[in-house]
Amino acid sequence: MGDWNLPWEGECRCGQVRFKVSIPPLLTMACHCRGCQKMTASAFSLSIAIPNAGFSIIKGEATIGGLNGATRHYFCPHCKSWMFTRPEGIDEFVNLRPTMLDDASWFALFIETWTREKLPWAKTPALYGFETLPNYEDYAGLAEEYSKHRMSKNEH
Ligand SMILES: [Zn+2]
Ligand SMILES: [Zn+2]
Repeated sequence: MGDWNLPWEGECRCGQVRFKVSIPPLLTMACHCRGCQKMTASAFSLSIAIPNAGFSIIKGEATIGGLNGATRHYFCPHCKSWMFTRPEGIDEFVNLRPTMLDDASWFALFIETWTREKLPWAKTPALYGFETLPNYEDYAGLAEEYSKHRMSKNEH
C-alpha cells in the first residue's frame, strides 16, 4: 500500500475547491457515454473509484450539476470543473476525476465503459471494456483484479 504515496490532494481548475484522498483507488476507468462526452467536451471521462471513507473536501464546497438527477455530478461553483460523481445506488465509493489531482502522472486506465456510445476513433489502453456498465456484482472482482495488476506492475 505504501507505494501509493497517500494522501493525495487535488483541486478544480480555479482552486476554490480542494479535496483529499487517503485510501487507494478501487478501479481506474474511462467512460465513453454521451453524457460524459458532453460534460468533458471530449471523447470520454476519466475516473478513479475512491472508497467513500477515503475522500474529503478540504476547501470550498462542490455543487451539484450535470443532470441534477439520481446520479450526482459535483462541480466547482466558480470554474465549473466537473470534479467527482456519486453514482446512483452506490454509496461505497465516489468517482473522482483523476485530472483534478495535484499529481495525476501515475494514472493508468484499467477498464472502459459505454464503448457502445464511443466515438469511432476513440481507443484507450484499458484492459477490460464494457458495452455499457459492468454488473454491480462484478465490481468487487474487477477491484481485486485491479489491485493484483497494480501490484505486479510495482514488482521489480
Ligand atoms: Zn474552481
Ligand atoms: Zn459516462
